Amino acid sequence: MAKTYEFVEHTHDVVVVGAGGAGLRATLGMAEQGLRTACITKVFPTRSHTVAAQGGIAASLKNMTPDCWEWHMYDTVKGSDWLGDTDAMEYLAREAPKAVYELEHYGVPFSRTEDGRIYQRPFGGHMQNYGEGPPVQRTCAAADRTGHAILHTLYGQSLRHNAEFYIEYFALDLIMSEDGVCQGVIAWNLDDGTIHRFSAKMVVLATGGYGRAYFSATSAHTCTGDGGGMVARAGLPLQDMEFVQFHPTGIYGSGCLITEGARGEGGYLVNSEGERFMERYAPSAKDLASRDVVSRCMTLEIREGRGVGKNKDHIFLHLDHLDPAMLAERLPGISESAKIFAGVDVTKEPIPVLPTVHYNMGGIPTNYWGEVLNPDASNPNRIQPGLMAVGEAGCASVHGANRLGSNSLIDLVVFGRAAAIRAGEVVDPKSAVPTPNERSCEEIMARFDKTRHANGSTPTAALREKMQRAMQEDAAVFRTQESLEQGCKRLSAIWGEMSDLKVSDRSMVWNSDLVETLELQNLMANAITTVYGAEARKESRGAHAREDYKDGPLGGRDDENWRKHTLSWVDEAGNVKLDYRPVVLEPLTPYEQGGIDPKKIAPKARVY
Ligand SMILES: Cc1cc2nc3c(=O)[nH]c(=O)nc-3n(C[C@H](O)[C@H](O)[C@H](O)COP(=O)(O)OP(=O)(O)OC[C@H]3O[C@@H](n4cnc5c(N)ncnc54)[C@H](O)[C@@H]3O)c2cc1C
Repeated sequence: MAKTYEFVEHTHDVVVVGAGGAGLRATLGMAEQGLRTACITKVFPTRSHTVAAQGGIAASLKNMTPDCWEWHMYDTVKGSDWLGDTDAMEYLAREAPKAVYELEHYGVPFSRTEDGRIYQRPFGGHMQNYGEGPPVQRTCAAADRTGHAILHTLYGQSLRHNAEFYIEYFALDLIMSEDGVCQGVIAWNLDDGTIHRFSAKMVVLATGGYGRAYFSATSAHTCTGDGGGMVARAGLPLQDMEFVQFHPTGIYGSGCLITEGARGEGGYLVNSEGERFMERYAPSAKDLASRDVVSRCMTLEIREGRGVGKNKDHIFLHLDHLDPAMLAERLPGISESAKIFAGVDVTKEPIPVLPTVHYNMGGIPTNYWGEVLNPDASNPNRIQPGLMAVGEAGCASVHGANRLGSNSLIDLVVFGRAAAIRAGEVVDPKSAVPTPNERSCEEIMARFDKTRHANGSTPTAALREKMQRAMQEDAAVFRTQESLEQGCKRLSAIWGEMSDLKVSDRSMVWNSDLVETLELQNLMANAITTVYGAEARKESRGAHAREDYKDGPLGGRDDENWRKHTLSWVDEAGNVKLDYRPVVLEPLTPYEQGGIDPKKIAPKARVY
């Protein structure tokens, strides 16, 4: 018999789940407007993965080279391999400078130029003159600890505006009304074992990515796609899950990230012959080509026997030709990481690196206000009432099939801010908070209780590793029909094995066994939609590189049939249903009224 759980009740105008850059920017913006805002987070806010972001945040401030929002938009469109939504990409590029100046005024300690302006470095795929080059200096940085600086500043500002924080609370699921309105969330207080019911007029999911579905990832162990899991269980779709970004420079072995800023500051990659091979593949952008491109070139070099090391299975990143004083000033964090994780002194030796899972372009579909979409046959842009999603958990979609470096931090603050602006318009502080649907709450607690008492024979860690290895092997940098079919089979089998999980600890206080099992359930919803979406997409686009689709003028991209977003649903039994949604082609501003020239962003081959 399921134990009955008592709820500690809370009512708020808005509940934000997640306290990374996106969650904190949304929380701050909501609280600033006087909305009664709660922010729930499973880790202490400043331990969210955003704290690890190194390289910087993109905005066309033109402090160091010529730049404009149109060039930033063009680079984002091209980076997305023409899968991003045009209105959202325009919004991002136009609002970016404002959002960065806001951060500056909130107190983010950016690095400075000689004349005191925000320091900006070059980053992959960011160019002048609509991609013609030379590289633009667009990425605003606080040394190589930009995420750290942003997160601490936003947390301080949120406290100043009286947002209420529920720290080390694990959100379990969305409370949904009988007619499909999101009414709040239920969360488990890890510290004392109490269960809390948060009723709200708006829930904002800002739960981050799901890098940990893979064996080797740069992301924190807490990046388990919990928001995606909650959305899937609520019967809502996920979007473009097949697009998973591999960062070219994870440290060989540990996966710890070396920022693209290292190449931005002049670092370069070499193979076992000492060749700077990126010059051959991307004559114009070289080592600063887009991430998917560099990751593929590295993989090809290794495959063709030109990898370095005993097993010829990785690549070297050289920084040892750069001025040590510059390294100490601009890249102190990665110098330290290279020492700790590779035993390398970057001023003397190259760093061993390998493409490593880094970012999820896919996620919960939203419009550029952060409102979640629940498309139906008559309306691909139908809004799901009561629910928003921002940050890496969401898919606005500005990154399309491939995200440019430093475009995520700007996505967090631009769309965190947009969600707050929108909530200010649609949430009425005077209206009553909805009464939660008891049936939905019972279902949530029944799942929780069943998981807590799971008494099969498979330990959570064993099944998680099986999933991670399957994803790493079958949905990797390069994909084929065979690898993806095998991936689907393996993931479906693993889904079946979830009913045989064993949770050994039944307690309610700091039960990490149970937390990891709930996280595994969430990871699985993300992982299975990733492989099924990838298997179905018969083309190569951005990070989705299929060896069986690489010919033709666009290198295997098929705009006629596949310039569309994948929508995926997964039910309790693990059945995945796929459908598609058109890409938004209309910009926010028509050309005649000062918008971008549509000819400039028309699809073409993507070369760097
Ligand atoms: C090593 C590294 C370096 C990077 N460097 C850069 C960079 O230089 N520039 C750039 O633009 N991008 C960078 N990125 C990408 C970028 O940092 C991330 O995409 C971004 O920080 C994600 O922010 P977020 O707010 O969406 O989520 P996160 O920062 O991951 O935060 C997620 C939040 O959700 C909470 N949460 C999750 N699940 C639950 C739950 N069930 N209950 C309660 N709370 C929950 C967590 O506690 C946390 O507060 C980097 C990423 C990595 C991994």
